[in-house]
Amino acid sequence: MCNCKNVELGSFDNQIQIDHCSLLHPIWVDACIADEVIHLLSRGVKTTASCCGHNKTIPSIVVAPESVKLMEELGYKHFNNVCIRRGPYARTFFYAKSVKCSLWIKLTKVWLPYLWHNIIDDL
Ligand SMILES: [Zn+2]
Repeated sequence: MCNCKNVELGSFDNQIQIDHCSLLHPIWVDACIADEVIHLLSRGVKTTASCCGHNKTIPSIVVAPESVKLMEELGYKHFNNVCIRRGPYARTFFYAKSVKCSLWIKLTKVWLPYLWHNIIDDL
């Protein structure tokens, strides 16, 4: 679980600024997941958008398509974002390692939407 309390999804509360040598400019990242993002930047991963989940959705690391293979080599597991099902960005979403979420969040945010979009929706 992350340290967020009453942080709405899509808000920029609880973010900190990172200025890493691999970046062209500073970026803002959820404080709960910042250490992991800095570690990945140091390993050469290009992160594009990451979110601690705010105890409401999946804690995720999102990367540029060219960093997908490196994330897999680092042992990161994909999760299916049902909003982006096709194209070069479909496999760019990974579960964060440093922040975990409840089984309820996985059930309601990943598994049930996956069933809906891949099985029920096709019937
Ligand atoms: Zn958080």
